[in-house]
Amino acid sequence: MRIYLDNAATTPLHPEVLEYMLPLMKEHFGNPSSVHFHGRQTKALVEEARKKIANVIHASIGEIFFTSSATEANNLIIQAAVRDLGVKRIITSPIEHHCVLHTVEHVCGCHEVELEYLSVDQFGALNLDELDSKLAENKGMTLVCLMHANNEMGALADVKKIGEICKKHDVLFQCDAVQTVGKYDINVNELNLSFMSGSGHKFYGPKGIGFVYIKGDNKISPLIFGGAQERNMRAGTENTYGIAGIGKALELCMADMVEHKEYITSLRTYLMKSLQDRIPNVKIVSPEDGHYCILNVAFPKNEKSEMMMFNLDIHGISASAGSACSSGVAQASHVLEAIGLSADYQAIRFSISHYNTKDEMDFLLEKLEEIL
Ligand code: PLP
Repeated sequence: MRIYLDNAATTPLHPEVLEYMLPLMKEHFGNPSSVHFHGRQTKALVEEARKKIANVIHASIGEIFFTSSATEANNLIIQAAVRDLGVKRIITSPIEHHCVLHTVEHVCGCHEVELEYLSVDQFGALNLDELDSKLAENKGMTLVCLMHANNEMGALADVKKIGEICKKHDVLFQCDAVQTVGKYDINVNELNLSFMSGSGHKFYGPKGIGFVYIKGDNKISPLIFGGAQERNMRAGTENTYGIAGIGKALELCMADMVEHKEYITSLRTYLMKSLQDRIPNVKIVSPEDGHYCILNVAFPKNEKSEMMMFNLDIHGISASAGSACSSGVAQASHVLEAIGLSADYQAIRFSISHYNTKDEMDFLLEKLEEIL
């Protein structure tokens, strides 16, 4: 048996997305910038995908731009906000993805931009009173960069509240929604987002394609210069198959979202409760009401738990590991360190999809018992 429980890292391609993309790869090879028939045919696919994404997140079609990844989308937003929108301060959190953290560190190192971090508790919850009081100190235009759901432990931010606070103080709000697009309802207007990023391979779409939502009144220039693709926002011939695939994948996710959410939640709850019942000293790192696809658990460190990932893999289970840093070891997780997880624990993230089954959870539990 081979079990895939690393869906927060990437999801398998939805079979219907593959079916949709394959004939396009054979027949729709035109360059969408060409004005002839072949170009127009491909351009129509690109625009159809843009419309699908815009509809799902309640944006205007003109506010969606395709990128190579969410990493590129987050880079574009952060770098352009500083360069073009007069941002003088960035407020973020220590549990953001590295594509946000390393970018804010870079821009703040190169420009006169102040960088501030919000504190987080042991469940990854942000202190929003702190955000409110930081924003009350008027330090010039501010960009707030906070993710919707944390990819390592599944903590969900109260994005609505963050949006209200940002609106009250009239600052920009960028939300990395990579783990929630296609899994939760998102309305960029209700959430008062200025920018948002998403990535196709996290919701059963292809890899190498992402998108960015840029609220209409934020006039920014591109990160990548060249041709006039993506209405001058992102040069380079479009990844047309990826674009068609990401649109289809999001459409399919939304159609089944409620059903999948209920099913995956039941698997997650079953796994969580069974771990607590069967594995002595297990620590549930994820908040109970966190992202329904992500369950991060930790085991007291010993030679067995430290070899856990390796042993799970041998037993046919793919998951992902992380631990807090004890001595500057290269792979320590900045997220687990930030929430104060003791370095005496070995954490494992199981991230679930609708393709997983209860039998697989039982198999996993059995193997965990065996390994430990
Ligand atoms: N943001 C979050 C929260 C993620 O989980 C990831 C991927 O792991 C990214 C950004 C980067 O996405 P991409 O793989 O599209 O660059």
